[in-house]
Amino acid sequence: MALAVETGYKTVIGLEVHAQVLTRSKMYCGCSADYANAEPNTHVCPVCLGLPGAMPVMNRTAIETVMRTGLALNCTIPDFCKLDRKNYVYPDLPKGYQISQYDLPLCVEGAITFEVNGEPVTAGITRVHIEEDTGRLLHEESFDGSATLVDLNRSGVPLMEIVGDPDLCSPEEAREYLVALRRILRYIGASTGNMEDGAFRCDANISIRAHDDTFIGPKVEIKNMNSFRAVERALRFEEVRQREVVADGGALVQETRGWSEPRGVTLAQRTKEQAHDYRYFPEPDLPPLTTDDAAREEIRASLPELPAARLQRFVDVIGLTGSDAAVLTNDRAIADTFEAACSALGTAADAQMVANWIVNDIMGLARSRSMPLDQLPLSAGQIAELVRLVREGKLTARAAKDLLPQLECEESPANAATRLNLLSMDDTTEVLEAARAAVADNPTAVADFKGGKGAAIGRLIGDVMRRTGGRAKPDDVRAMLLRVLDDDV
Ligand SMILES: [Zn+2]
Repeated sequence: MALAVETGYKTVIGLEVHAQVLTRSKMYCGCSADYANAEPNTHVCPVCLGLPGAMPVMNRTAIETVMRTGLALNCTIPDFCKLDRKNYVYPDLPKGYQISQYDLPLCVEGAITFEVNGEPVTAGITRVHIEEDTGRLLHEESFDGSATLVDLNRSGVPLMEIVGDPDLCSPEEAREYLVALRRILRYIGASTGNMEDGAFRCDANISIRAHDDTFIGPKVEIKNMNSFRAVERALRFEEVRQREVVADGGALVQETRGWSEPRGVTLAQRTKEQAHDYRYFPEPDLPPLTTDDAAREEIRASLPELPAARLQRFVDVIGLTGSDAAVLTNDRAIADTFEAACSALGTAADAQMVANWIVNDIMGLARSRSMPLDQLPLSAGQIAELVRLVREGKLTARAAKDLLPQLECEESPANAATRLNLLSMDDTTEVLEAARAAVADNPTAVADFKGGKGAAIGRLIGDVMRRTGGRAKPDDVRAMLLRVLDDDV
C-alpha cells in the first residue's frame, strides 16, 4: 500500500490508556499486586478468585493515586462518584464481571500539553476512572499442544483507564501524547508505565473526515500495540488505509482492528454488530465515593513539581538550553540528581557544567553499560566533586573523561584520580621534558610553526598531552611549548 496521504482529509485520533496503579496490594483484597515473578495462582484469595460470598474492600491508596493522576492531568474531581459492574464472560475473569466505573468516573475534563516538533499541543482528557485487571491465559504447549491454563495472580490488580478526547491530528501527536502522559505517571509515582510488562497499554480510535466536514468516517478502534513505535506505525497505516478506501469509492465500517507488528498492518477483528453489551449496573457491594475540597487540596499539595513545569524552570531560572532541560527532566530521578549536584556546588556556571557532564558523559556511560536511564552510574555527590575538581584545575577535562568509567561505586573522584595517577600535573619539569621531546620528535610541525603556520602548535600540544596522559593543563602546555620553541628554556 502506498504511503500517500490524501490531503482532502484530516485525521482524528483519541487514545485510551490502561495503566497499572502502583500499589502494594490489589484493588479489593489484601493480595500482593506484585505478580511479575510469582508462581501462578499464588497471589490469590476468595475475593480475587471471585468465590461466591466474598466481599470486596476498597484500596484507599489506589483511589488516592488515581485522584493524584487526575489532578496532575488538570482534571476536575467530582464530589460524588460510584463503581459499576461491567459484565462479560471470559475465562480470565472469574467473577464474570469487572468492577469499573460507567457514568460517574473519579476524574473528568482534564488536559495535557506536550510538544510536537517544538510546538506545544494541548489535548483534552475526557476522564480517568478506576478499574481492576483480569487474570492471564497461558497457552501451554507442553501438554497436548492445545491446553490453555489460567493464572489469576493479576486478577484484581488496580488499573486506571485514562480516556483522551479525540483531539489528536496525527500519529506523531499520538506518540508524543503517550510519552508525556507516561512521564507524568512516573513522576508522580502512579505507575511504572512499563509497556513491556503490560503496566501501560494503549488502544486508539481513529477516523478521517473532510476538512469541510462533508465526510465524517466511522471510528475504528485499534488494539494490540505494544510500544510507542507500534502505536505510531499502526495509526500511520490506518490513516492511509482509510483514505484509500474512501478514495477508491469504498465504505468504511465502525470496527475493531488488531495491529500485526510483524506484518505492519491492521486486521479486522470485529464490527459494531459484534460489540459487547456490558450491561453496566451500580456495584452493590461497594459504597459510592464522596470527596470534598479539603481532600482534593490535600492530594493536590502532595503532587511533586510536574515535568513540564520543571523543564521550564530549568530553562528560565537555571539558564539551561531547552534540549538539555528536556533530557534532564525526562526522568524524575535524573532531574533530582542534577539538582542535588548543583546545590552541592552552588553557582549557575556550575549548573551548566553539571548539565553537560550528565547529558553527554554520564548518560553515555549508562548507555554503554546498558543501564536503565533512570539509574545514573554516579551519585549527585560524585558528580559535584568531579565538576569541582575540573573547575579548580585539579583534573583536566580529558583526565576527568578518562576517570569516569574507572570510578568505583561510591568512590570519591579525588581518591580515584590519585589512585589512577590522573591529577593534573603541577610539576613543570615533567611538562618541560614532554615539551622538549615533542619538539624533537615533530620536526615538520616545528618547521610549519616557525614558517608562520600558528595552528601547527596544536599538533605539538596534542603530542605533549599524550606524553603526559592528559594530566597536563593545556594552557600550561602551550606556554611551555612556546618557550621551548623560542629556546627560552
Ligand atoms: Zn485476593
